[in-house]
Amino acid sequence: MGLAVGIDLGTTNSCLAVVQGNKATVISDHIGRRIHPSVVSFLPDGTSVASYEARERQITDPRNTVSSFKRLIGRDFNGPEAMASLADLPYEVGFGPDHVPLIRVRDQEVSLPEISALMLRHLKELCSESLGAEVDKAVITVPANFNDVQRSSTKIAGRIAGFEVLRILNEPTAAALAYGFGGERSEKIAIYDFGGGTFDITIVELAGDIFKVLATAGDTALGGDDFDTVIVEEMRADFIDKHGVDLAGNTVAMQRLRLVAERVKCQLSCLEHVEATLPEIAENRAGRAIDFHFKMSKSRFEGLCRPLVDRSLDVCVEAFKLAGIDRSSVDNLVLVGGSTRIPLIRNLVGREFGVRPRVEINPDEVVAIGAAIQAFSLTRYQMSRPSAPPEPYAADKRCSSAPPVVWSDGPKGRESSGPLPAVLDVFSDASSDAKSCEGAGGEPPAGGSRRRPSDDFGWLDLGLSEPPEEPHVKAPRTSVIKRRKDVVHGAPSWPPMQQGDAFSVDIKVGATNALLLDVTPRALGIGTAGGFCDTIIERNAAIPVEQSRLFTTSYDGQTEVVVNIYQGESRRVSDNTRLGQVLLSSIRAAPRGEIKIRVTFEIDTDGILGVFARNEETGEAQSTRIVLSGGLDEITVRALVEKYASE
Ligand code: AMP
Repeated sequence: MGLAVGIDLGTTNSCLAVVQGNKATVISDHIGRRIHPSVVSFLPDGTSVASYEARERQITDPRNTVSSFKRLIGRDFNGPEAMASLADLPYEVGFGPDHVPLIRVRDQEVSLPEISALMLRHLKELCSESLGAEVDKAVITVPANFNDVQRSSTKIAGRIAGFEVLRILNEPTAAALAYGFGGERSEKIAIYDFGGGTFDITIVELAGDIFKVLATAGDTALGGDDFDTVIVEEMRADFIDKHGVDLAGNTVAMQRLRLVAERVKCQLSCLEHVEATLPEIAENRAGRAIDFHFKMSKSRFEGLCRPLVDRSLDVCVEAFKLAGIDRSSVDNLVLVGGSTRIPLIRNLVGREFGVRPRVEINPDEVVAIGAAIQAFSLTRYQMSRPSAPPEPYAADKRCSSAPPVVWSDGPKGRESSGPLPAVLDVFSDASSDAKSCEGAGGEPPAGGSRRRPSDDFGWLDLGLSEPPEEPHVKAPRTSVIKRRKDVVHGAPSWPPMQQGDAFSVDIKVGATNALLLDVTPRALGIGTAGGFCDTIIERNAAIPVEQSRLFTTSYDGQTEVVVNIYQGESRRVSDNTRLGQVLLSSIRAAPRGEIKIRVTFEIDTDGILGVFARNEETGEAQSTRIVLSGGLDEITVRALVEKYASE
């Protein structure tokens, strides 16, 4: 039997960990690197490389090198989130059936689960090499607010990479495990997770080996990238002041500003002032090249960024309301995600919660460590129960006896006087589908197929070099970022503070199990007549959970019913995210309203939705087909699993 590891598959970087002996530790590569860029590059000979090797190719072959794929996985190509991500991507993105985004590289179209799988396969090999043993099982983490399609697509990616995916685990829940596993603590903790593209806050109650998520809330449009944007805008305004030229329309110059802005931001986490020089960024009216010198102080940066941090604090208030607790009852604050290295964030969040953040926990590694602990917990449980019935995972078993599964005909708290069937407005839903295809016309919309222009501006100059091997270089008070030949004056090119201290967790001897009680981040509902959304499973419901509903036909002789599934709390479907649809078919032709079909929505411990239907007349299972927007169908998945297994 192979080993089981924990994988934090991040938007920017990934991290791996394993429990061996009595310790959960991060797995490093052959030269000791503990985090691995989430990048995959496709080579001319048809093969691919991942991680650092791929990141180098972002400079030389940006069109065939795919980064930030986590932003697109499981997304609907026409959805607002995918659209927002496309604008910044240097490679081409198109779409396939059901609006599944596809990456166009080297004359082929590759799905997002496949690209994630290539990254995961690289990580799997890295683990096997580093540990000297086969690694074939994994717990993979995802953001708490990942929707059903994003979760199942990540799980599929794990399968394609050759893993048995033991569990899809929420990142903040993993962080809570890393913090509290085996500690027999009894306290409430807040996991404040500010990464590159998203923000999440999760409140967890620890009671011995029980980790109960009380609430999770987030802002998918708030992340470290927004701090970069603030600096880019400051640079742009400064350039207009000094040189009378607006760089806004100059794509190459704006890319350079963005790369430098991120470095300025990171440096300001440990310095009071930062200076950057970008030579020959633009030309004046006489055609002469202009160099750009830019300075920023920490206090200016903090003043500009305060509204962004306040936005995150508003989300925290929402989470406390959902959890039904006061913020003063939080005993400990765990910070996760690279952006939590910004001192302003640490200070304001600490003040808001009235506790000192646990800064000794490495925000880059804590999630992988928690995932490794969960992998350990699940496999230990399997090993210790060789003749156990087919209930695969420890936490499943424990969960099934813990939270009562809610089973009703309507959403929680709704008055129900008997089984009132929901009559679906099949036609209006169908027409809204048709509308969502309009404008797409089989072609990506304008701006949806972007690439970084090839240029000779020296991307190498902008901090894309490897972090120094020596992580504890003393930082000076001021740094100067210069363009030529990767020159950084006065400070290491990668701030030492970013590396963090190596983080590991001692596992208490005998502690093998943890009961995780997680919640679903968003409400799950169905579209009904008039463009309304009927909630089936409430936001923040403890998972696993099941809810059922009765459906009936809306016209005589109807043999199929289409149920559109939405995620979100709004009463209007147009404000929610459409996840896909369930087709109930082979229904006996009968007068309108005669046939009644009970449809059950079930969210499992991975947070993944399953839909089952039963004909109330015959008691037989009703044939259903789920089509998820942005997802892959099972036949395609099996073909991909076979393809990569034979490579
Ligand atoms: P993650 O998604 O957790 O990998 O976080 C990535 C984000 O953290 C990016 O926006 C980085 O620019 C940001 N980040 C990493 N290190 C620092 C730092 N020292 N100071 C400020 N932001 C940082």
